[in-house]
Parts: sequence; structure tokens; C-alpha cells
Amino acid sequence: MFPKIKRKKTKVVKVGSVLIGGENPIRVQSMTNTDTRDVKATLEQIYKLHYAGCEIIRVTIPDEKAVSALKEITKKSPMPVIADLHFVTSLGEKAVKAGIAGIRINPGTFKNLKNLDRLIEVCKDYGVCIRIGINAGSLETKILKKYKTPTPSAMVESAINWVNYIVEKFDYQNIKVSLKSSNWWDTVKAYELFSKKSDFPLHIGVTEAGGLIPGTIKNTMAITYLLLKGIGDTLRVSLTADPVEEVYVAYEILRNLGLRTLHPDIIACPMCGRCEIDLMKLYREVENWAKNVKANLRLAVMGCIVNGPGEAKHADLGITGGKGVGIIFREGKIIKKVPEDQLLNEFFKEIETFLKEHPER
Ligand code: SF4
Repeated sequence: MFPKIKRKKTKVVKVGSVLIGGENPIRVQSMTNTDTRDVKATLEQIYKLHYAGCEIIRVTIPDEKAVSALKEITKKSPMPVIADLHFVTSLGEKAVKAGIAGIRINPGTFKNLKNLDRLIEVCKDYGVCIRIGINAGSLETKILKKYKTPTPSAMVESAINWVNYIVEKFDYQNIKVSLKSSNWWDTVKAYELFSKKSDFPLHIGVTEAGGLIPGTIKNTMAITYLLLKGIGDTLRVSLTADPVEEVYVAYEILRNLGLRTLHPDIIACPMCGRCEIDLMKLYREVENWAKNVKANLRLAVMGCIVNGPGEAKHADLGITGGKGVGIIFREGKIIKKVPEDQLLNEFFKEIETFLKEHPER
């Protein structure tokens, strides 16, 4: 059973070939942490992220050299590339001409409105999606003067002003919005407020969330809260970790909400005194294997023969063992006993058989 979620019908926008908003799936994004000027390293990371299920990738463009590298990166990337721009609008114009599909800007940080206008014109000419990325840490002075601190209302006012500016002055609607703060509650309040006032699609997530465990918790709290309310069209789980982990966490959240499934679900027992097998090692190996598999499967890794198969009978397939014997079970029933050192190989073979019998998975 999953929660019933009524998604808000937002406008549909386009980042290259990927549609965002409306009834389109909630898209998973990430960002490279390589030096964009290093084309080989950046493309290698992009391929890894794509393989993990990432659908849109953002890269930073700190200087001319990074922008020059974009030509090859956008040409060879298997997914649309978004450029992350700060301060220098001319870099953004060149990035658009180098083939990016989207650009992320925080308009309030650009001091020269004429330059910003020219960038928006170029984005419009090339059909590049503009993300208005409002960040609590860099709100424009005018708004900060009014609100004193970067409250959710302040962030939303800034976002709405910029959306209206682009729509009214340029008649351009290929826009999505993010309203990020490192405080997850401020973040969700800002998104909720914006969602009440506008139908433009939202890119959700918590910024500067921290390492794998604290960052996953903060992001999960915010993203889950919003998705349960039907808010959010694309997401990035920002982590101080390998960006591939961001993608896995994103899909874990989406799967647990019944919104999208990409990799198998793995259930595992917490272990107790009955465990007579190296369960943590087994779990890690199954988890690493599952990260490279795209199938809607529920697998179980359990610590003892007595209770494991029964406790995990809702899994499609599972393993357990003890005293040198490995057990494979299917829907709670033991189907094979093998020497413990052959357990994983045999398990993966059984999964293959199961998938042949269930091609829809
Ligand atoms: Fe303990 Fe066995 Fe249950 Fe795992 S499956 S928690 S080892 S009783």
C-alpha cells in the first residue's frame, strides 16, 4: 500500500527532450562535482549518473574554459545538460549557444538588468528552460530590506516577481522554480506558498543538506512532505557525497511513496542473536548488485533460517542461511539449499529466472 497522492497540475516545461510538470513523472536530477573544464572526467561522471537513473544533469560554468568544454559535454551527454550560472551573464549566453537545454540562475544576484534581459532573450531564442533558483542565502537586497530575514514569504515574493518579469516582458514560459534553504522547514513552507500562487513547475530539494546520512534525512523529510502534498515536479537530493548516491536516494524516496520504481527494493532484517551468517556483507553485495539493475522486484536478505523466510514472505525472492548453508526462498517458500559460498551466485540466477517469468517487472 502506498499513500494516495494527488499531484498538483503544473504547467509542462521542456528541458531538451525531458518534459517536466503536468502529469509527467517526477524527474530525477543531479549535479556533477567534477571540474567542468575536464571534459573526460565530467562525461565519465555524467555516464555513471545516467546509468544510475539520473535524467537531467547540471554542471557549473565558472569561466570561459568551462563554457568551451560544454560543447563536447552537451554533444556527448546522454541526458539534457543544465548550466549553473552565477554573476556573469555573458557566460550563460555562450553556454546556451554551446547546446545546454536549461540554465539555472538566481536573477537577484545579477546586478545589470540589461545583461540579464539579453540572456533571457537568448534562452528564448534557443528554447532553453530557465530555472529561477531562489536561495535563502542570496536574496536580493530589495526583498531583504522588506522582510529583514530570508523568510519563506520573502523567497516566494522574489520568485513570483522574476517569473512575472520573464513571462510579461519576454512572453516566455519555459520556466521552473526552486526555493531552497538549508533549513528544511523553511524550504517546504516556501514551496507550499509558491505552489498556492503559481502553476509553474517546481524543482524541489534542500540545499547544503550535508553528508550521506544527515543529508538524506533532511532531503527525505522535505521532499516527502512536499510530494505527499502533491508538490514537486523534479527533484535533486543534494548531498556532500558521490552524486550517484543522490540519484539512489531520490529513487528510494519516490519508490517508498509509490511514485516511481527503478531499482529493486531490498528488505533486510536488523539481525539479532539468531543470526549465523555475515548478513551485513551479504546485504552490501545484494545492494550493490541491485543498484545496477532496473526492475520492479522486492528482495529479502534475512539473518536466520528459522524466521527469515516467514518474516519476508512478501518478498519475491530472498536469501538467508547459517552454519555454512545458504537458503533461497521465493514468496516465503524455500526453493533451494546451497553451500553458503555459492549463495549469491545462485540467488542472482534465481532472480534472472524470476524476471524471465515476469517480463513486466
Ligand atoms: Fe533475528 Fe532471524 Fe528475525 Fe533476523 S530474521 S531479526 S536473525 S529472528
